[in-house]
Amino acid sequence: MDIPNNLVGLIRSSDSIAALTGAGISQESGLRTFRDKLEGLWAQYKPEDLATPEAFERNPEVVWDFYNVRRLRSCEVQPNPGHFALAEMERYLKNFILITQNVDGLHSRAGSRNVLELHGNITRVKCSRNCGIITRWEDTSGCSPACPTCGAKLRPDVVWFGEMLPRDVLASAMQAARRSDVFLSIGTSALVQPAATLPVLAKQNGAVIVEVNLEATLLTPFVDYFLCGKAGEVLPELVRVTWLR
Ligand code: NAD
Ligand code: ZN
Repeated sequence: MDIPNNLVGLIRSSDSIAALTGAGISQESGLRTFRDKLEGLWAQYKPEDLATPEAFERNPEVVWDFYNVRRLRSCEVQPNPGHFALAEMERYLKNFILITQNVDGLHSRAGSRNVLELHGNITRVKCSRNCGIITRWEDTSGCSPACPTCGAKLRPDVVWFGEMLPRDVLASAMQAARRSDVFLSIGTSALVQPAATLPVLAKQNGAVIVEVNLEATLLTPFVDYFLCGKAGEVLPELVRVTWLR
């Protein structure tokens, strides 16, 4: 993959970079993206039937089981060269913010520090009655436990369909997008709102938009550079030609 020279120059001289990642970056670690069909026991479901507050109310055991499997998979797999390249980028730059839609925690495991998790994290649970309890949860068996404070069921601390994003995290992400002079959109279909508006905000504020994806998305016509390929190959190359050559 050839990285254009003028992009390398822009990144080197930029003051502030924001990157948005989606399920595509974790695909090379072995986690399925949203568009891949669910397998096995889950084949009869659509994610929209499992990842909603209504589904949890109707059938907490099934939803809890679904997250047990996803939590187990997230813990079993390893960050890949794409995750590591972003962690490295952060070390070379004064201002670098990583905004992720992923709930798998792989960016932090790869060493990224400045991470905004827009959709939560699968290794935490919170009270379904929102009494304020949020706690780490690495168990991958059993069923939905009771909140130690109010007795309601605990649920994964992730954003489900139809739910609002954590307000402070979203505000920080919007601010990072507005401030960035280079904005990277990586492995995301750029369909899910409000994450999809972040590159638009960045562009309106004059940022150069760079997309890394296996295929064109709805965002592609608006980007300044489309780097077509696997995140796990393109990102290490981007770091190499920018800082290590
Ligand atoms: P998406 O599945 O809609 O899109 C994935 C995108 O990644 C596609 O455009 C695809 O072409 C691209 N892609 C696939 N493999 C790639 C690779 N190796 N390199 C570069 N690009 C690649 O995912 P999304 O845009 O993140 O939105 C879906 C929602 O699903 C998000 O809200 C997210 O929270 C959730 N989700 C998260 C995980 C996770 O945490 N790992 C997994 C599945 C879904
Ligand atoms: Zn509670």
